[in-house]
Amino acid sequence: MGKQPFSKPPTHEFLGPFLPTKEKSCWILLFVLAFEVNSIRGGDVKIDFSYHHYPDLSRVLNDTAASCHEISRVYSVGKSVEGRDLWVIEFSDNPGVHEPGEPEFRYVGNMHGNEAVGRELLVYLAQYLCSRYQAGDARIRQLIGQTRIHIMPSMNPDGFELAATLGPDSPRTSTSWGSYGRLNAGRIDLNRNFPDMLPVWLLQEKSQRRNHHVDIPEWYWDTQVAPETLSVILWSLSQPFVLAGSLHGGSVVVSYPFDSCGLRKVMRSYSEAPDDALFRKLAKVYVDGHRKMGKCGQVEPCNKRNFTCKGGMTNGAEWYCVSGGMQDFSYLVTNCLEMTFELSCDKYPDESELQTYWEDNKEALLSYMEAVHTGIKGFVRDGAGKGVPNATISVEGVDHDVATASDGDYWRLLLPGTHRVTASWEGFEQTRTCAVKDGSPATVCDFSFSATTTWFASKDDVTGAITEFTITPAQSGKHASSSFSLHSNSFLRYYQILVITLIVVWSS
Ligand SMILES: [Zn+2]
Repeated sequence: MGKQPFSKPPTHEFLGPFLPTKEKSCWILLFVLAFEVNSIRGGDVKIDFSYHHYPDLSRVLNDTAASCHEISRVYSVGKSVEGRDLWVIEFSDNPGVHEPGEPEFRYVGNMHGNEAVGRELLVYLAQYLCSRYQAGDARIRQLIGQTRIHIMPSMNPDGFELAATLGPDSPRTSTSWGSYGRLNAGRIDLNRNFPDMLPVWLLQEKSQRRNHHVDIPEWYWDTQVAPETLSVILWSLSQPFVLAGSLHGGSVVVSYPFDSCGLRKVMRSYSEAPDDALFRKLAKVYVDGHRKMGKCGQVEPCNKRNFTCKGGMTNGAEWYCVSGGMQDFSYLVTNCLEMTFELSCDKYPDESELQTYWEDNKEALLSYMEAVHTGIKGFVRDGAGKGVPNATISVEGVDHDVATASDGDYWRLLLPGTHRVTASWEGFEQTRTCAVKDGSPATVCDFSFSATTTWFASKDDVTGAITEFTITPAQSGKHASSSFSLHSNSFLRYYQILVITLIVVWSS
């Protein structure tokens, strides 16, 4: 049997005049390949390891958001004394809105204008997130798909411009107070300008004391509140932030609340927050992700202080008391757990060292953001299934509650273990047992004040008839959909290449 002569399919004859010639096909193939190579390049991390003055900072943030417009936007939370915007670049699969159930995270840098490393690392982080998302990096896609991330590279842009007049020649150690840009242009130290909430809280009548969302005292508004501080206070209150980091310089250590010594006169003594053990665990996430912070001898001691041999972390007040710092404010006035990352002995190092600082901190910055997905989370709903805002979530044994956000959603970072958790609202309570596994994503622990669950008219009635559940860790549905889109994108790309190649082969 002889071979059947190859005959072109009728569709080819019909479409013949429209199909490309061999020469054209080669050009199309080259064009497609060039496009593919270019987009792979676009996926590479393009970071300019330099210092960014205010105009450069504005430009690089806007350029980054523009090239990742589907997951990013730039907004300003207010202006500095000299009228510079306090820019924030946001990353989310739905930028601009709070998605019910999705936690909010923030980084703030350069609160002290002469502490320049954090400012730059946050610019690089934004570029990294954008580039890696475009490259299809599964880890970054999952993070952005499940988290709303806000990055403010500079809370003190005026101070930075002053410090930058001297640049890396600025005094390099933590003794460079006052001048050279530490303060804002109104000569205010922004990390001493928040209301000192610990003494306010401790002085309240114990029986009436609320252990979260403590009211800012009236007298605070009669003090000199910097526009930068006020903007950040309003921003902190406007979003349900869950976890945050503030980037500083002058030492290499993570410093966790409380910074305030409260009512004590001692200048250096441990000031324990109700979530002290959790703060230490979260601090360890950053330290462990850092290339040097917890590794004894890896960093030259800054001003004789060497925290690297002491686990790379310290309680704020044990190091030195700070009254009016941002992290204590976040903890006592909002739901947000915040800590301070001191990134370098040298507050304003030479530009040539910036890439090394980025490499030292990159993994720590990422894993700390991912820690927002630990503990428990869920919704508090009423009998009609509607989310209950401002319900209180209390954990037995921890004297610090959180409140639900506007959709009834909440996040409570917790240590691994089994926790008795109570949701209360308008005199009604429901208690559940929620298990948190080490290394697992946040356990879903929902509460529903429906007719079928036990209702309590007052706290006194709670004992006894409580239904207890142990909830197993569960991934949100969002995770699944984000990984699907990742795969479908890759599939489409390969499909396009295959089709073009077939046309070329066919027409030649
Ligand atoms: Zn600082």
